[in-house]
Amino acid sequence: MSTLKTTDPNTIEFLAGFDIHRHLDGQPTPYHRRDHCREIQEVDPVQQFLFSLVNVCGLGLFSRVIDIANTIELVADPRGLYFHVRNIIDETPVHDGWPQVLVAIVLTPATKLADLRLMFDNELVWARPFALKIFPGFRSVHGVDDYDAPEFCAVMEYAQDQGIPVMSHVESPDGAEVATVKFAELVKRYPAGKFVSAHVTNRYDYDVVRELHANGHRVLGAVNPQHALHTQADYLQDGRIVNPDLYMHPPFGSKTDAFWAGMAMLMAEPCFALGSDSVAKTIVSKRVESLSAGIYWSPEVLYPVLIAAFEKAGDLNGPWQASFNRFIRQNAESFFGLKPVWQDWQLVRCIRQQWTVPERYPEYSSLGEWQDKCVVPYGAGKTLEWRVKNSMSSE
Ligand SMILES: [Zn+2]
Repeated sequence: MSTLKTTDPNTIEFLAGFDIHRHLDGQPTPYHRRDHCREIQEVDPVQQFLFSLVNVCGLGLFSRVIDIANTIELVADPRGLYFHVRNIIDETPVHDGWPQVLVAIVLTPATKLADLRLMFDNELVWARPFALKIFPGFRSVHGVDDYDAPEFCAVMEYAQDQGIPVMSHVESPDGAEVATVKFAELVKRYPAGKFVSAHVTNRYDYDVVRELHANGHRVLGAVNPQHALHTQADYLQDGRIVNPDLYMHPPFGSKTDAFWAGMAMLMAEPCFALGSDSVAKTIVSKRVESLSAGIYWSPEVLYPVLIAAFEKAGDLNGPWQASFNRFIRQNAESFFGLKPVWQDWQLVRCIRQQWTVPERYPEYSSLGEWQDKCVVPYGAGKTLEWRVKNSMSSE
């Protein structure tokens, strides 16, 4: 498989990446509450517009995306999944490449095996989920803390038999380590299963994933690049959140934490892969109403930031190019056993050229007008040294 082209040090071309942790639903999550008990709300029309118009922007720069759908309704009514994916397709601007969208649906203590089977056995390819998402270790509507519950065991055995990946979505600001312990426990209980840890944020997560992998378990740790690039001081000072745009769950840690997340990203051993955890939250929900958690990674920003990080670590014309490719795509592709998709002829092309990340990406108002801006992307207003030069990027 082709890799970065290196003839010109100011141009980089590579196969479109595979983001294994992205939220396309754009649903507001009331995360200002600290009881881990998220209430699933009706879909907010404003968020729905975001979903349609911001979320899909630039998605053609990916080969595949695992969409972590935050709604349990998708399980309750299989038609929901069909419409969810259908929406993404219908609202996508016309472009040459389109990522294959693989949906992970929430597995809760209330999930019934029979319902899941209906969905996973679905004949309609668009209405079939790809993976299960769980919150291990929390006693809440979503959290699974009883591994001995008969229905949960039945579901897990089914997932193991069918090779359905189970994605552990550790998000609690207080309980990340608990969740990692519970994650490891689950992996050991189902030794033939396939498990993803959706956040590798510190040395503990790093070690757990590597050790499980070394012991022959099928595990993949998603690294959110922001955890390698930032520390707590970037959003929190004197106990106050000073930069809500960089607030997410799990939040950024210490310099040491960032170092280990960086190790996972840059060395790109087979058990680590790119998962941006991108989610489009409105500027209002993040800055005014509720300090909503989440960072929006526009693909046109993600690649230049990653290239700069890898370049800082070493020569992208040397061994780092292989590392970069493993991180953005190959490790995930091999882990999930997926073949290249049809649009893979299109390479992502980046050139060394300064550009400024938009302060905001626009929204489309319910009045049918373009409003002045809505989602603040990661890196807003910053000057980047690399720039995506495909038709999907701005300008
Ligand atoms: Zn997430």
